Amino acid sequence: MGMNVQGTKSSPQVWYPQTAAEAWRLKKSYGTESVYISGGTLLRTQWESGVAAMPKHLIDLSAIRGLGEIRIGEAGLVIGGQVSLEACRTHPIIQRHFPMFTEALRLTAAPSIRRLGTIGGNIASNIGDSLPALLGYNAHVVWYNGMEDLQITLSEWLKIAGMLHTERLLLQIQLPFQVDKTLDGHEVEHLLAVNSKTKRFSAYHKVGRREAFTPSVVTVSVSGSLSEKMEVNEIRIALGGGQMIAQRLEELEQELLGEVVDAQLLRHVYNRIMQLYKPREDLFASASYRKTTAAHLITAELWKAAHQ
Ligand SMILES: Cc1cc2nc3c(=O)[nH]c(=O)nc-3n(C[C@H](O)[C@H](O)[C@H](O)COP(=O)(O)OP(=O)(O)OC[C@H]3O[C@@H](n4cnc5c(N)ncnc54)[C@H](O)[C@@H]3O)c2cc1C
Repeated sequence: MGMNVQGTKSSPQVWYPQTAAEAWRLKKSYGTESVYISGGTLLRTQWESGVAAMPKHLIDLSAIRGLGEIRIGEAGLVIGGQVSLEACRTHPIIQRHFPMFTEALRLTAAPSIRRLGTIGGNIASNIGDSLPALLGYNAHVVWYNGMEDLQITLSEWLKIAGMLHTERLLLQIQLPFQVDKTLDGHEVEHLLAVNSKTKRFSAYHKVGRREAFTPSVVTVSVSGSLSEKMEVNEIRIALGGGQMIAQRLEELEQELLGEVVDAQLLRHVYNRIMQLYKPREDLFASASYRKTTAAHLITAELWKAAHQ
């Protein structure tokens, strides 16, 4: 089963499975004595800070075939879990079609870490800064459950984070290309034929304790489209930051559909974010600071979408 490098008393045994099935079997056999490792950039900080102990077995995912590429597939842009954050940030199709994702990666760590750290690790951590941006594009993830590859929305994946077996293995992420409806009801790829009656908007923000190379305190994305009369046709609002598992505010999104973006609606958005968003408090920021920041950013972006 795969190649392995024997551990010593102080260093773990490293396994290099060639397939998802092998990786999954190793995880199943060694259980809590093992961990999947991709770039290792987050795991290292956890071991060094004592948040987690280094286990006896490291299951290195880098040798699994087919996880290191970005390609166009039926589901949209398909990104393998082993693709580095830097390769995603500099990819021309991602830059053109998924700018919130590019922006999130620009604001993630430093180039040296982005070259080692993978998108799979960022997502599987459940707290990666890329998550609100990816939620804004209705991303799907494909994961392996020991028998087959399963596809679910990223939003669902995050809702059940921590509730499933720890051996769940993230294989790839899929980003559907945006489509707009033409007046006769046909769907067209957004950037190839933009319907001039529809105004698309998207914004991603990361607020940290300093300008750059900083852990996030709040991350938000807001995206969608408005009609000519400023009614909300489509909207996605996603939040994360700190140790909070990123989430979409689906209840609020539903409330906004068909509504005109005016001062009253913006007040409603602000108040509902304060009610619905329940960030964790930590040493760096209070829950109320996080809520207020998120509510201000999202309200301001909606105002800009309608008035600029
Ligand atoms: C100095 C520094 C600054 C950083 N700044 C940021 C930042 O600004 N924003 C940010 O989001 N992150 C930041 N990070 C964290 C980290 O670099 C990123 O989250 C990175 O994307 C993690 O990817 P990785 O491949 O290194 O994950 P790893 O460390 O290898 O793994 C992370 C977690 O995911 C699990 N895992 C990895 N791959 C898979 C998979 N395919 N399937 C299932 N589970 C898997 C691992 O078991 C582990 O629990 C920073 C790290 C450092 C050291």
